[in-house]
Amino acid sequence: MAIDFTLPSDVVAVRQRVRAFMENEVGAAEERMRREGHWRRGYAELRERAKAAGLWAPHMPAEFGGMGLGPLAMAFVSAECGRTMMGAYVLNCHAPDEGNMHTLLHHATAEQKERWLRPLVDGKIRSCFAMTEPEVAGSDPTGIRTAAVRDGDHWMLNGHKWFISGARGAAFAIVIAKTDPDVQPPQARNTAFIVETDTPGFNIVRDVETMAGHGNHCEIRLENVRVSESAILGGRGQGHRLGQARLGPARLAHCMRWIGSAEKALEMLVGRALERELHGGVLADKQLVQAMMAESAMELYAAKLMVLHAAYLIEQGAPFRQEVSIAKHHVANMLWRITDRAIQVHGALGYSTDTPLESMLRHARSARLVDGADEVHLSQIAAHVIEAFRAEGTTRGATGRDLL
Ligand SMILES: Cc1cc2nc3c(=O)[nH]c(=O)nc-3n(C[C@H](O)[C@H](O)[C@H](O)COP(=O)(O)OP(=O)(O)OC[C@H]3O[C@@H](n4cnc5c(N)ncnc54)[C@H](O)[C@@H]3O)c2cc1C
Repeated sequence: MAIDFTLPSDVVAVRQRVRAFMENEVGAAEERMRREGHWRRGYAELRERAKAAGLWAPHMPAEFGGMGLGPLAMAFVSAECGRTMMGAYVLNCHAPDEGNMHTLLHHATAEQKERWLRPLVDGKIRSCFAMTEPEVAGSDPTGIRTAAVRDGDHWMLNGHKWFISGARGAAFAIVIAKTDPDVQPPQARNTAFIVETDTPGFNIVRDVETMAGHGNHCEIRLENVRVSESAILGGRGQGHRLGQARLGPARLAHCMRWIGSAEKALEMLVGRALERELHGGVLADKQLVQAMMAESAMELYAAKLMVLHAAYLIEQGAPFRQEVSIAKHHVANMLWRITDRAIQVHGALGYSTDTPLESMLRHARSARLVDGADEVHLSQIAAHVIEAFRAEGTTRGATGRDLL
């Protein structure tokens, strides 16, 4: 029998090291910061400690200074990171840098890698990914209006982007712009450019305030931003393909972190239910609360299996779009539901800012929008189901491929 759910000993070992680091260092520091009300201070030191502990850029190959873990091993590492607010940042595998590192690793020239990937992996610089625009639907990147026009041996970029995570403080942006407006198919019209953020005309308008506060999701205006031909990443007309290739693993990395967050919420739910006394017992005795625990356990378990299977497919070089879409939609929604249930069981305390749950819920809401809104994934999942049925007379190929 080929299926073996036993984890390789090296993965168990790395998970144990990351788990201990997240609990003893990051979690403990964040709890202190939350109590004292000064976020973000102390992260530089934690990053240094992660580096010293050999827990740095786990998703990047050793030749660039990372740990060289594949998507499957990363699932376990990221889930541990997700139990804290900034664990992924501390290990330098946070969005959007994590996705940008992968993009550069697979699509950049040797020169671009030395210039941008190496310092990014080293943690000396940060980056952002600029695709979404306020005027057109982000769910359909063929509508992108930011234009890149030839200007001698350079390109001139003009456009308007927003919700560009990490833009403030980033050294460069990977900007998706339209270079070939008349080419067919429309997916071949966009090109990715590496744009240094101190280039004249790269103007950050504001850090858009969201329901989770200011998260450095910026609005940007590109006004006559002049870049050389060597700024093109992955080839002219490859912007859409590059975005899609980037989003598969990046979406899954989000899922892995969200699993850690949901697990933490469920543990808080159970912990509270076991200690909160009422009517001569505790909340955990109540079947209605037990139902919340059971629903959450089932959803979390399904999420883990989906993410591991999708990571396995990516690692095998097999097609993965359907499985990543299913995992992304399921995980984003189970994160929302489990965090909401944890708040419910905490009563007024859950609604207060005395626990991290309210912040976790506000952050969880964006999971159903980023990296493809729920409905985009649902429609793609349905399209794959129809396609599989038409091709093979069965939907098996779109519901886990060779599983069962
Ligand atoms: C916290 C956060 C961080 C982000 N970071 C980045 C970033 O770093 N870089 C970047 O480029 N972008 C980023 N984004 C933008 C994100 O990628 C877009 O919000 C997303 O692609 C959706 O685009 P939109 O907001 O324009 O919504 P629209 O495309 O206008 O869609 C609006 C709604 O329409 C519905 N919808 C869409 N398609 C369909 C369909 N086929 N059928 C039925 N209903 C549909 C969905 O409910 C969707 O929410 C971020 C967004 C958030 C919230």
